[in-house]
Amino acid sequence: MPKTLFELPLPIRRMPCVVSNRNGKAPSKGRRLNATIPRMRISILSVALAGLLLSAGACSNEAVKDPPSILLVVIDTLRADAASAYGITEGTTPAFDALAATGQLYTRAYAPSPWTLPSHASLFTGSPIDDHGVGLHGQVVLPEDVTTLAERLRAAGYQTAAFSENALISPVFGFEQGFEHFSVRTAEEQMAAKQKLVIDVADELARWLEARDPERPFFVFINLYDPHEPYVVRAENPFLPASATTENVRQLKAGLRTSHFICERIPPARQLEILHGLYLGEVASADRKLKAILTLLGDQSASGLVTVVTSDHGEHFGEHGLLDHEFSVRDTVLRIPLVVHGPALGPAIIERPVELRDVTRSLLTWAGADASGIAAAGLAGNQDAAPDAPASLFALYSDTRMRLPPTFDSASAQQVRDFKRQGCSATDRVFGDMVAVTRYPFKLNWYERYPSELFDLSRDPGEQAPQQARHLEVFSILEQQARQFAARTGLAGGQAQERLSPETEEALRALGYID
Ligand SMILES: [Zn+2]
Repeated sequence: MPKTLFELPLPIRRMPCVVSNRNGKAPSKGRRLNATIPRMRISILSVALAGLLLSAGACSNEAVKDPPSILLVVIDTLRADAASAYGITEGTTPAFDALAATGQLYTRAYAPSPWTLPSHASLFTGSPIDDHGVGLHGQVVLPEDVTTLAERLRAAGYQTAAFSENALISPVFGFEQGFEHFSVRTAEEQMAAKQKLVIDVADELARWLEARDPERPFFVFINLYDPHEPYVVRAENPFLPASATTENVRQLKAGLRTSHFICERIPPARQLEILHGLYLGEVASADRKLKAILTLLGDQSASGLVTVVTSDHGEHFGEHGLLDHEFSVRDTVLRIPLVVHGPALGPAIIERPVELRDVTRSLLTWAGADASGIAAAGLAGNQDAAPDAPASLFALYSDTRMRLPPTFDSASAQQVRDFKRQGCSATDRVFGDMVAVTRYPFKLNWYERYPSELFDLSRDPGEQAPQQARHLEVFSILEQQARQFAARTGLAGGQAQERLSPETEEALRALGYID
């Protein structure tokens, strides 16, 4: 018997031809910034999409003669530089790298948030967080009235199935919408599977494939959970420091719950190196599962298979005093790997920044399914954006711990607020709501409680040296965009509650932000 909570036949929800955004918003067209921002370098070796690129918004799959089957894999918590295709880490992801060698590798793909639920909600709907609401103000369930990628594909004739190792990506949180088949582990099964190192996603997929209708294309979604903390201590892990024995590592793990040690409690460099090695071992494990899945699907679709492998967020390993993936909108947690592979998609390295929800738009377009109402530009060609001036990308972290319901008494509310953040101060910038506006090479981080910071990612990918005093005009534009985004999404007020540094205050005064 499969170790799953849900093995449910789910009802088909019929789709209307025209689907509007819940808020009735018009799709955003390529927003332009002031010309002072340098043009982004685009390196596309070849993009051969002629057979797949069709007009978005079609109501059926009539326009696509043989719609391709689709595999969408999220390797949870996989930060971009941990996938070896990006050239920073060696040998972690050979299956991902093989897809990248013959497919399209996106070097600047961004998640809309640093954690699972809002990122998956945007991937599943093609909508920004302020549209579906998941991850804002404590909302964690995908609303019934959204129209999901699976619903749209199912309406276009696809068989739809999901295999999730992450207990959050489950019917409990509304993610079953549109799936005929949904397998998910409970949290207990998830932990047990890690401890026993059981790999059974491929087995579950194999059973589903045996029973499916071979005449119809399929959409299979898979979430692989291995890189998510807690990391397993494996007997064989080539990514650990050479001097670390398995016993050393076990002892370290026994006394250290990763996410509870941030700010002044951050572990010393040696321990961080071990944690990172454990994490890379988990990344390699997820990649082995990916290989098994790809092998199974190898000859499943006569019309070819479009494969997308990406992630929902990254992970900190001591950068800015952080571990895990909470309390941050740094690139360390927002920049994700993304590879797209298909029979008509020639090899390319694409440096244009894209968002996770662009994947949704492109998959629907390639399937000939209804993509109306989805504001995302899409991956290939970015139809709505001028080639040299794509829109700013927005991401957010909504600090629900800071606005607890009134049922909490003050002592327990304080405990929840400080949970994990003991020893953190204002200089750590970990309290309150946050917004990231990326307009490569610039990135502005806006904080509810601290002054904004501007970085030049082309020179400073680690966001170490704020540049607002040097690029006042860029700072002004992106700060205004961040404030407008924060207001639109209902994030807490735009006023910094700390005193500004003299330099920042002078810059803001010069730009008219303060009196
Ligand atoms: Zn996640």
